[in-house]
Amino acid sequence: MSDYLEYMAKHGHEQLVLFADESAGLRGAIAIHDTTLGPALGGCRMWTHPTEEAAIMDVLRLSRAMTYKSAAAGLNLGGGKALILGDPRKDRSEALFRALGRQVEALGGRYVTTEDVGTTSSDMQHIAKETRFVTGLPIEEGGSGDPSVVTGYGVYMAMKACAQEVWGTDDLSGKTVALQGLGKVASNLIEHLKKEEARLIGTDISEERVRWAAETHGVRPVAPDDIFGVETDIFAPCALGGVLNDRTIPLLRCQVVCGGANNQLLEDRHGEELHRRGILYAPDYIVNAGGVINLSFEIGRPYSREAALRKTAEIYATMAQVIATSKQEKTPTSRAADRLAEARIAAVRDIRMRLGEARGPR
Ligand code: NAD
Repeated sequence: MSDYLEYMAKHGHEQLVLFADESAGLRGAIAIHDTTLGPALGGCRMWTHPTEEAAIMDVLRLSRAMTYKSAAAGLNLGGGKALILGDPRKDRSEALFRALGRQVEALGGRYVTTEDVGTTSSDMQHIAKETRFVTGLPIEEGGSGDPSVVTGYGVYMAMKACAQEVWGTDDLSGKTVALQGLGKVASNLIEHLKKEEARLIGTDISEERVRWAAETHGVRPVAPDDIFGVETDIFAPCALGGVLNDRTIPLLRCQVVCGGANNQLLEDRHGEELHRRGILYAPDYIVNAGGVINLSFEIGRPYSREAALRKTAEIYATMAQVIATSKQEKTPTSRAADRLAEARIAAVRDIRMRLGEARGPR
């Protein structure tokens, strides 16, 4: 246990809650990384980790990533994550998610949960029977529904900001975009790219998705392994994490990497490597913040898709700011994005402390 506390102290985590409810078959954890900006928002993941230690390290790491994503997106939210230890194909039940809901409720609003890998919006409906601190409910329930529409729009805005930097215009007409993954985020992104008459190349491990993209949108298919080396202006990872690594980076023949997938860099040093090679990397959590922005518009107010899209359009300016900092400070964009998030948290923490001091003891 002391190792976790050491890790939490080093990385600024506020709280780790472990829980078990044998009657509901629930074992899991909630990590709250930082609540300086507001309640800690982050998904509830359900997964079979090889060990409990791996699971807890995962929830700690993911909660911290959420702090950075929300802070850089200008949201009044902190970062958190929940984890249910279990197999999402076999172990899900109403009782399980209600029991998780009670754990969320016990935190009194410090943590707000939502769907993630292994959970669905119908699981969120079970959680909502036990707590108000859940978001990402279906539209019919007054929720924000499928976030990928908004996420795809945010990726498009980030791409335009990158184009402005590299080609001196944010018009994407005639530019080639190579998409890895043709799922929900990519298909929404494709809608925007098509309007600008960008040329599209794509791959997916699902033949059905490849056929759909080719037939509906004229996406030129390539084999999954060939997507890295394809000649393109922009490479858009929209499938998996860890795809920018020692093996793939030397293959890239693009000027910009900008896509919706989470955790694209296998390690931080891969952001440095892209920078060194003169490839403009749009940091994933800046680019795909549309999802969390969408959720934030469901918390404590009636959801408005228009308002969520308006806020998501700001990703263009955020991306431009990241590029400017990267150039000024001669640092990779991945590092510049972290600095942006850290500076916002530090400024708000500072205001809070000064106001607290001015008020004196209560
Ligand atoms: P999705 O499941 O709809 O699409 C992913 C697609 O990638 C699938 O079609 C899958 O077959 C394909 N794929 C998987 N492995 C592949 C491989 N090796 N090569 C090529 N294709 C492969 O998921 P999504 O909602 O579109 O999310 C895509 C990425 O964006 C994920 O990393 C997700 O975490 C991230 N993201 C999504 C949202 C959102 O709003 N949905 C928000 C933020 C981040």
